This record gives sequence, C-alpha cells and structure tokens, in this order.
Amino acid sequence: MSFDAFLKDLPQFHTFLSWDVSLRKKTSFGCNAFSRAIFTPKTKDDVYTFVQTMHQAGFLYTKDFHVLGKGSNLLIEDGGYTGCLIDLSKLHQIQTIEKKQNWIMDVQAGVGMGTLLQQLRKESYTGFEFTFGIPGSIGGGIRMNAGTPEGWFSQVLISVYGCTKEGEPFTKDVTENDFLYRDFPFGRDKIILGGTFVFALSEKQYIEEKIALAKSKRDLQPLQYPNFGSVFKNPKPYFAGALIEEVGLKGHQLGEAQISEKHANFIINHGLAKVENVKQLIELVQQKVYNHKGITLETEVHLIGKP
Ligand SMILES: Cc1cc2nc3c(=O)[nH]c(=O)nc-3n(C[C@H](O)[C@H](O)[C@H](O)COP(=O)(O)OP(=O)(O)OC[C@H]3O[C@@H](n4cnc5c(N)ncnc54)[C@H](O)[C@@H]3O)c2cc1C
Repeated sequence: MSFDAFLKDLPQFHTFLSWDVSLRKKTSFGCNAFSRAIFTPKTKDDVYTFVQTMHQAGFLYTKDFHVLGKGSNLLIEDGGYTGCLIDLSKLHQIQTIEKKQNWIMDVQAGVGMGTLLQQLRKESYTGFEFTFGIPGSIGGGIRMNAGTPEGWFSQVLISVYGCTKEGEPFTKDVTENDFLYRDFPFGRDKIILGGTFVFALSEKQYIEEKIALAKSKRDLQPLQYPNFGSVFKNPKPYFAGALIEEVGLKGHQLGEAQISEKHANFIINHGLAKVENVKQLIELVQQKVYNHKGITLETEVHLIGKP
C-alpha cells in the first residue's frame, strides 16, 4: 500500500495530520519546498503510537518519516520531502524537578531555546546564556549538541528521553562524553522528546554580562536575511569563515543564494533561493578551500528530501 493511502486509512491520526505543507515558514532559510505530510503530536504517547505504526507497516525513519525541530539547521531539497515530518512544537512543557541552588528541570523537545533562556534569566539561573540568538528547539539542540565557544548543550544535560525508530521509549543518562562537536551520535537514529537539565542559581549581573557578550557576537552575523546558521564546522584551529574569505568566495552568489558579505560562513537567501544553488556554493567552497589550503570543510546543516 502506498504511504499516502496507508496514512489516510488510519482515522486515529487524521486530526494530527496536515497534507502538502509549505516549508518556507518552517525552515529558517525559507526553503521553497513542501512536505507531503506533517504529523503534529500533542503527547509523547502520540509519537510512540505513530512511530510504532509506521515501523510495523515497513516505513523507515528518515526516508519515510523524519523529525522537524524549528528548522534552523535543516535544508529541504527543492523537490520537497515526500514522506511525513513529525513536528514536535506542541510538546512544549517545562517541569521543575527540584529548584534550590540548582534548578533541575524536565524540558520537552518542542520548547524554543529562547523561551527557556528567558525563564532562566528572569529567575537568575545560569548555564544557558550561550544559546542567546540560536533559533532552535530543545530537541534540535540536543540532537545537534548546539553551542558556542561559551557553552554547549552537553554541559547542562543530565538525561535525554524519546523513542527509537521502532517507537520504543527510552531514557538515557548522559555525560559530556556522549556528545561530539555539533552531534549527539546516540540521537542520530532516535526521536528525542526532551531532556533533564541542570542550571545553577547566580547573580543577575553575571548572567546579563554573558548575554551581552553573546549578543555582541550575533551582531556580526547577517541576521537580516534568512539563513541556516554556520554552513561549515570550524576545522580547529581555523575558522571556516576566514578560510572562505581567503579563497575569495565571500559574497559569491548563485541564483538567489549568496555567501554572505558580512560573515562568509553564512549563506543567505535573497528571496526564493534554490537549495540546488546552496549545494553548489557548498561544493565550490569545499573544493577551493581544499585546493588552496588542503583543509576539508565539513557541513553543519542537515539536508533531507528529493533533489
Ligand atoms: C541565525 C542562526 C544562528 C545559529 N547559531 C547557532 C550557534 O551559535 N550554535 C549552534 O550550535 N547552532 C546554531 N544555529 C543552528 C541551529 O539553530 C542549531 O543547530 C539548532 O540546534 C537546530 O535546532 P532546530 O530545532 O532548529 O532543529 P532542526 O533544524 O529542525 O533539525 C536539525 C536536525 O536535527 C534533527 N532533529 C530536530 N529535532 C529533533 C528531535 N527532537 N529528535 C531527533 N532529531 C531531531 C532534524 O531531523 C535535523 O536532522 C544557528 C542557526 C541560525 C539560523
């Protein structure tokens, strides 16, 4: 049975499903593509049931169904995603487990990083200021081990929970050793539904200074245009942006996609940029940097869909 016919035949999911959804507003780059379907669960159980049902019918995680966070590190190919994206934005609870010198909390995957930061800032708990200006969700932040030189998700996480690609629930205690630069290998084939975090009570002034530092760095980024954050991981001890500038590609444009003139490790969208052009820019940069510097640049962004 086809994927569409299968899903349409399941009345229990009808109210959670939308069909042929534009991803322009669901990706920070404004990808001009569609997803065949989007499933928006309200509870963790909805996710387990959906994933189990898809798995038992032989549909595969990432090929036929995939997770969408806030789409700030995700490019959808111009041909769109022909499966079903799971949009976790309605799993947005923050629950206190203990709140003394440390605030230990359970945060669901759909909570925005900015929402959590504002709550911590208001109540003077430190540890999450590094996320200032990162437009992602908690689930996406865990999956990507989002961070800056000032801090990483792995430093404030105690455990994560979610389900496997077969729909089996799991909870896993984590340490920093479970994470890599921009990656949480255990989470690669999982659906992350939230995590337990710990933050420390602090002085308001200390927190505000950290946020001011983060803000000053954001001012160097081309935030007035749609983008998907840093294109390449920084190949220590170098900075990808500086390497791109050195090989003369800063400002290079293909169609409506352009390597930013403000910060060369960003590709910006002037309107209806094609992801095909973004991929060509990425390849061009990788080739030139390799040829001139002998350095291989790895991308940070995730790409899904049909070219
Ligand atoms: C202006 C700007 C600035 C940025 N600055 C930074 C920065 O300083 N540091 C940094 O690390 N990143 C940065 N990013 C990139 C991005 O915001 C982070 O990677 C963020 O963690 C992505 O979260 P998301 O919810 O948007 O995930 P998405 O982009 O929706 O998804 C990214 C990947 O994670 C997967 N995923 C998402 N949620 C889940 C889940 N719940 N379970 C399993 N898999 C999931 C998706 O399938 C996809 O493969 C920036 C982006 C922008 C646009």
